[in-house]
This record gives sequence, structure tokens and C-alpha cells, in this order.
Amino acid sequence: MGHRAAGIVVAVVVTALMVGCSAGADTTAPEPSASSEQAGEPAGDGAPAADPAPLRQPDPFDLTRHSIDDPRSPWVVVNRRRPLRPATHRPELAVVEGYLVHPRVVRPLAALLGAGRRAGLDLRVMSAYRSHGRQAQLYAGAVAARGAERAARTTAPAGHSEHQTGLAVDLGRASTGECNVQACFARTREARWLRRHAHRFGFVLRYPAGGQRMTGYAHESWHFRHVGRPLATHLRHERIPTLEEAFGLVGAGS
Ligand SMILES: [Zn+2]
Repeated sequence: MGHRAAGIVVAVVVTALMVGCSAGADTTAPEPSASSEQAGEPAGDGAPAADPAPLRQPDPFDLTRHSIDDPRSPWVVVNRRRPLRPATHRPELAVVEGYLVHPRVVRPLAALLGAGRRAGLDLRVMSAYRSHGRQAQLYAGAVAARGAERAARTTAPAGHSEHQTGLAVDLGRASTGECNVQACFARTREARWLRRHAHRFGFVLRYPAGGQRMTGYAHESWHFRHVGRPLATHLRHERIPTLEEAFGLVGAGS
């Protein structure tokens, strides 16, 4: 007993796209349901989601407006040095296109996907919320497959994954799996558009190229974290590449 179960876990993990903090499709997500219909464009403001009105920001930008420690905060910073507290935190959850996310992310994610598709992009969600238990499985599988040292460089232990907040999504191309959740995604039209436009919907590219010393992870051109438009816009305008640098934190990869 146990060997067979362990074998199954390893097989699942190895066949999944085990790159970075991402691990292919999230099996905890339910089937697409009618509730994703509610995740459409923000109603009533009249502005097309592809072109949100410019934000007026206070100067200097107030970086103390939300906690970076509280797992329920829109600005919580999670990395290898900063586990979620409690580690088993489970957020409120809602559904977008069959994937579980924090309710705060439903409308901006639907708007981002809608705007991208109207721009001719081939976008889908690859992974969103992952529970503590699911992340523990993935990490154990990564260690079994590749050894502890290599696993630690690419996969977050349970309680240390941004996906557990419900605020992070991995995006890929819908019509082809080629390059999804892989380094070559960075060279796709989809990734280029996301780099330019994600902040307008409140998302940041969480693991940018060259950010490994701060974030602890190599470039993940598919992983986006919702922090809200004010902070995402601040990072963009001030050319601050990572949340760790925005908040003056010690690098998670140093
Ligand atoms: Zn991810």
C-alpha cells in the first residue's frame, strides 16, 4: 500500500507540464458552468474593457494601503521566504471559464480574456486556484521526479504558492498546446500582448525575465497575478519589475 498511490501521483505530475510554479490543468476546477456567464464585462460603465480609462494615481503612491502579509489582501506577497499564514489558507472562490479564482479576479480576468480575444488572440486559462493539498501533491511529485534541489527551483512547496490565493492565473493558447507553460510562450503574440496590456486589468507579470533573484523563479511569461489596477499601473509606470522590489523586500532567490 502506498506505492501504487505514490506512483500515480508521480505519473500525473510527470505528464503534467511541470514548469515553474505551474502544473498544467487544475484538476480542482469544476466543469464550465453558467456562473462563468456572470464573469463578463463590467456592466454599466460604458467603457470598453479593452480600453479602461486611465487611472489617476496619488503621488507618491501609497504602498501601505493594503497588507502584504494578510492572505486575504489583494497585495499579499507570497514567495519562498514568505509563506501564506496560515499555510492552509483557503480563499473565497468563484468560477471563470471553468477555473476557480478569488471573486475579486472574476471580472478583471474575464475582461482581460475578452479584450485579448477581440484583439485576435488565442487565449485560455491553463491553471488558476490550487489548494494546499493539491500543491503538496505537485511538489512531492516534482521532488520524486527531479530531486529536491531542482524541484525547489521551479515548484513552490504547499503554502508558498501564489496559486493558493486564488489571485494568480497561468494563461496559454487555446488552439495549440505548443509552448503553453513553457519558455517559448514568451515569443508568442499572446505573451507580447499580455506584457503590454495586463496591467490595465490589474494584473502583473509576476516572474519577469531577470527577476529570479527577487522572485525566486525564472521567467514565467504565462503567470499573471492580480493586484488591482492601482498597484499594477504604479509598477508599470515606475518600471518596477517585481512585487518584492515594490515593497522593499529581501529577494526570495538570493
Ligand atoms: Zn503559475
